[in-house]
Amino acid sequence: MTEDKNKKTEKTLKINGVRGMNDLLPADAAQWAHLEHVLRDLTRAYGYEFLRTPIVEATAVFQRGIGEVTDIVEKEMYSFEDRLNGEQLTLRPEGTAAIVRSVIENNLIYEGPKRLWYTGPMFRHERPQRGRYRQFHQFGIEALGFAGPDIDAEIILMGQRLWDELGLKGVRLEINSLGQADERAVHRAALVTYFEKNAAQLDEDSQRRLLTNPLRILDSKNLAMQALIEGAPKLLDFLGEASLKHFDAVQALLKANNIPCKINPRLVRGLDYYNLTVFEWVTDELGAQGTIAGGGRYDPLIERMGGKAAPACGWAMGMERVLELMKVSGSLPEAAPGCDIFVLHQGGETLTAAMIIAERLRSAGIDTILFCPPDGQSASFKSQMKKADASGAAYAVIIGPDELAKDEAQIKDLRGTGEQQSVALDKVLDAVIDALVGSSE
Ligand code: ATP
Ligand code: MG
Repeated sequence: MTEDKNKKTEKTLKINGVRGMNDLLPADAAQWAHLEHVLRDLTRAYGYEFLRTPIVEATAVFQRGIGEVTDIVEKEMYSFEDRLNGEQLTLRPEGTAAIVRSVIENNLIYEGPKRLWYTGPMFRHERPQRGRYRQFHQFGIEALGFAGPDIDAEIILMGQRLWDELGLKGVRLEINSLGQADERAVHRAALVTYFEKNAAQLDEDSQRRLLTNPLRILDSKNLAMQALIEGAPKLLDFLGEASLKHFDAVQALLKANNIPCKINPRLVRGLDYYNLTVFEWVTDELGAQGTIAGGGRYDPLIERMGGKAAPACGWAMGMERVLELMKVSGSLPEAAPGCDIFVLHQGGETLTAAMIIAERLRSAGIDTILFCPPDGQSASFKSQMKKADASGAAYAVIIGPDELAKDEAQIKDLRGTGEQQSVALDKVLDAVIDALVGSSE
């Protein structure tokens, strides 16, 4: 007996979602839809095409694309072995490497450059906190096959336009140039000498990076190392003429478009594939997670992923962080209005008539909720009316046995005068349209 009881408890035990992976609740749906709508318009305005890649890729896509010595590949990826065929797979932690994999595989830039965009969930095993989740959503763009500073500037202008469209103020642009591999090699030697001289001040992570990827030490968020990092040799001082020319041209185009930017010599980005221009959009409103978007040029990546060498650049934005910024800065849109019509009935024949009317209204583009009794039987008109009110509907259509006997329905104004009129069943659609048009004038 007791054993049976225990079994039942086990079976009915609550199962929670995975830590750091959030449900996006209906209350926030209108805000997400608004952001997605603005992003869709933005990409259209600049001629970007949508590309949707799978959420799971071969692990090698990210190992090769992002680089082995990065936070993401070293410790943040959700990787697993396919139980059936032993393939090494990974839930995508970012979009670019997968987009490049797809572009190569599908020959997408065979006939010339392409502007692409994507959006969707990304997965990183990080410590969950405000603005940092294990499943989060990114929007990103990639401009593939363009070499000039014009496209670097264009993708940055897109960011500024986006903040303007969303009503976000105080989002600042920080920019840097990572030059080319040979320039970084000379800088790297200087950097290693500098940090070796001050090795005692390096934290454990940075001591390891000193051997593997010293540039990334500049990216450290450890407050105790900030003064040391501030005094480190600057990559900008090691750039050759061509790199500087590219960087100057990007800045001139930004200036001509009234986009202020701050050069941040410590901005190196967390991924390995960047060269020349890198940038981030930052805000002071979100605490430690103040970077809402980042990107740059990644000319070496396509070849490194096995494609024919072609230049490219792009950026990605964290949707949760942007929505949070919209929330704290009060620029969120009003919640979406409710439905237009709420249909009430008393079950049986009246339900059949109500359902047919509801379908007719929906076919005419009128958003309609049909009352469905929670107990599957019926409910008083009084309790149905409460639901109708809460639904946000402008009008209720009421079909009770008395109305049905006369082939009629009642239409009740829920927001204005509360007026109620009888209408023949086959005239309900016309009367509802008249009422809705009338009330929107
Ligand atoms: P951070 O330094 O904050 O870890 P990152 O450099 O790892 O950011 P990117 O890989 O450049 O981030 O991703 C682009 C954007 O995606 C970030 O600017 C941020 O807005 C968002 N983002 C990254 N990681 C997360 C996360 N774990 N949760 C929510 N948003 C994230
Ligand atoms: Mg990160």
